[in-house]
Amino acid sequence: MANPQRTQVGIVGAGPAGLVLSHLLYLYGIDSIVVENRSRQYVEDRVRAGVLEQGTVDLLTEMGVGERMKTEGLIHYGIELRFGGRGHRIDFKDLTGGKGIMIYAQHEVLKDLNNARAATGGQVYFEVEDVSVHGFDGCRPTIRYKKDGNSHEISCDFIAGCDGFHGICRPSIPSGVLTEYVREYPFGWLGILAEARPSSEELIYTYHDRGFALLSMRTPRISRLYLQCKPDEDIALWEDERIWQELHTRLTSDGWKLTEGEILQKGVTGMRSFVVEPMQYGRLFLAGDSAHIVPPTGAKGLNLAVADVRVLARGFKEFYATGRRDLLDSYSEIALRRVWKVQRFSWWMTSMLHRFPDENPFDRRRQLAELDYVTGSRAAAKTLAENYVGLKLPGRHL
Ligand SMILES: Cc1cc2nc3c(=O)[nH]c(=O)nc-3n(C[C@H](O)[C@H](O)[C@H](O)COP(=O)(O)OP(=O)(O)OC[C@H]3O[C@@H](n4cnc5c(N)ncnc54)[C@H](O)[C@@H]3O)c2cc1C
Repeated sequence: MANPQRTQVGIVGAGPAGLVLSHLLYLYGIDSIVVENRSRQYVEDRVRAGVLEQGTVDLLTEMGVGERMKTEGLIHYGIELRFGGRGHRIDFKDLTGGKGIMIYAQHEVLKDLNNARAATGGQVYFEVEDVSVHGFDGCRPTIRYKKDGNSHEISCDFIAGCDGFHGICRPSIPSGVLTEYVREYPFGWLGILAEARPSSEELIYTYHDRGFALLSMRTPRISRLYLQCKPDEDIALWEDERIWQELHTRLTSDGWKLTEGEILQKGVTGMRSFVVEPMQYGRLFLAGDSAHIVPPTGAKGLNLAVADVRVLARGFKEFYATGRRDLLDSYSEIALRRVWKVQRFSWWMTSMLHRFPDENPFDRRRQLAELDYVTGSRAAAKTLAENYVGLKLPGRHL
């Protein structure tokens, strides 16, 4: 075994969960090593989420990684719900006492975190292979991996499984320990990234006879647009012209025009709700997508990953400061309370806004009544707004 290493917390995965955790631990004076099987370039180019809750923005700012976000991010104080060809604004600022969301792409957050880790001597090993985790049911956890053909081992006090839905940490927990809760949706999202000035200052969620559509953005020059499609939709069948035509049809509204531009990227993403309980076993803790997935309609995946590791980091802080494991032992219980509320919201937004293949006329009337209620009742709109900007995180940020 070449080069045996030692750290306090070994982290698998350099996505939002892994990098936020690693930097929070650094700020708490706790040592960590992150192993990631992709290259830094790949991680920093991977287009995914783009909506940051107020709590996520506040935390990143307090962690000292919010400078670029503050100058380049776009603050939004509302969204539009569009149905029957008409738009209805949900005014977050008014409904939540001044809160909003930040449009700032996930890969930009990761660039900022990687730069912060590099500037502070953080150990993040990219392009490692054959990662495996061991000994977490006892008191000597290890992470093994290969790099350039050589085998390495990191011994640590704890392992954080931040390796996403397809990672190796969750499947390493012995069978029978975890319970999985799953809901598959009978549709997916066809998403494009286009070099086009966003046609609206705020996101537009559209319910249409032909299916859901979402107008979103990443910068003042880059639009991100989605269409509800079949879960196994063949993207090859979607020429650029067909995508734009469908977006025009679904997003149509009197006196409003959709701006087109060159399509830079397109792809199909499946939709799933998924939770495992508990989110910990022995000295292995799961955080982010490795423990749960939400359909993207509520824009919650990244934010939930950040909320998890905030709780986890506090547990490690308490352990290293006092030797007590109270917070660590209740990590799963604390994190799951938020996870299930966010699951509920993401499922609700998805159910309200999409067409279901097996729906009957009653379902359709009910969806339209729900949209009418949410846009017509201050109490209902407030519920949406409170969840969208993000439920309160317990305690101070750091
Ligand atoms: C394709 C896709 C598109 C998405 N689009 C949106 C969107 O439009 N809007 C939205 O709100 N949310 C979206 N999400 C959700 C959001 O991006 C995720 O919830 C968020 O990335 C979760 O962060 P994470 O750190 O838990 O997991 P990830 O970001 O998945 O990070 C896990 C990391 O672990 C690494 N890894 C995996 N296996 C191993 C291994 N064996 N060894 C070492 N490293 C490993 C991965 O390469 C990755 O870097 C999308 C997710 C996906 C997968």
